[in-house]
Amino acid sequence: MPNVPSSRALDLLADHLTANARVTVLTGAGVSAASGVPTFRGEEGLWKQHRPEQLATPEAFARDPRLVWEWYDWRRQRIAACRPNKAHEVLAAWSERYTDFTLITQNVDGLHERAGTHNVLRMHGSIWEVACWTRCAGSPLRWRDETVPLPVIPPRCSHCDGLIRPGVVWFGEAIEPGILMRCREATRCDVFLTIGTSAVVNPAASLVQEALERGAYTAEINLEATPASSLVDHALRGPAEIILAAVNERLGRLCGSGGSR
Ligand code: NAD
Ligand code: ZN
Repeated sequence: MPNVPSSRALDLLADHLTANARVTVLTGAGVSAASGVPTFRGEEGLWKQHRPEQLATPEAFARDPRLVWEWYDWRRQRIAACRPNKAHEVLAAWSERYTDFTLITQNVDGLHERAGTHNVLRMHGSIWEVACWTRCAGSPLRWRDETVPLPVIPPRCSHCDGLIRPGVVWFGEAIEPGILMRCREATRCDVFLTIGTSAVVNPAASLVQEALERGAYTAEINLEATPASSLVDHALRGPAEIILAAVNERLGRLCGSGGSR
């Protein structure tokens, strides 16, 4: 049985999640770990001896598009075989429960959407989208492609016959300004939760700080300590899928007993 926070710690978080709370959640690879999607920094992060930071860059793609696409094809196959876990399910339920709810995710796997979550802001794009590498005039900015496995690697643009690339934001690339602006707006909230992210990559990490400055109650759910742990009001140590299920159960009980949530 993994370590889980005390009952009191879970109550404390549930107490802040009142019916009218404006809730913003930031998620990272940790929420998908229980579904079987490897995190980057975990033991399974390596692929054929390559570190993700060496593959998920425009330079790596320019150098060896086949290698980068082989890695993405492997990840797409793996993710396609995974299902949303309890963490995704609870967050999807909260996206219905709270009128003002935003889920900001760094994940590209699409599991929040598959769980039925409303109002998802994808900071780093989607592994299920692709774009023309040269952004040729005939092609849309990006389009959906859920074919697994890919029949031809590297895949080609049907408009210019050049390369297409995964529709994700790589290391060293900028987050879409419109998305970033909406993420920043969402830090104006009552409760800001950061879940399953190592919180080392900016601007995701700075969102916690912004939420704090704007007066939100902030909490972190993670297996281990991160740079955000010392910033937040409340750090809960343990698996997201177990902690979220336990907090959600408390919310249900409080509702059922005629509580104010
Ligand atoms: P990360 O790999 O850097 O960190 C994962 C974090 O999750 C760690 O802090 C770890 O302690 C925690 N964690 C692991 N299992 C957990 C669990 N069951 N419950 C709670 N916490 C758990 O991931 P990151 O911070 O999201 O940054 C990596 C970048 O790589 C992201 O920007 C993302 O785009 C990309 N990425 C995405 C996926 C995905 O879509 N699922 C997977 C790997 C990496
Ligand atoms: Zn093209």
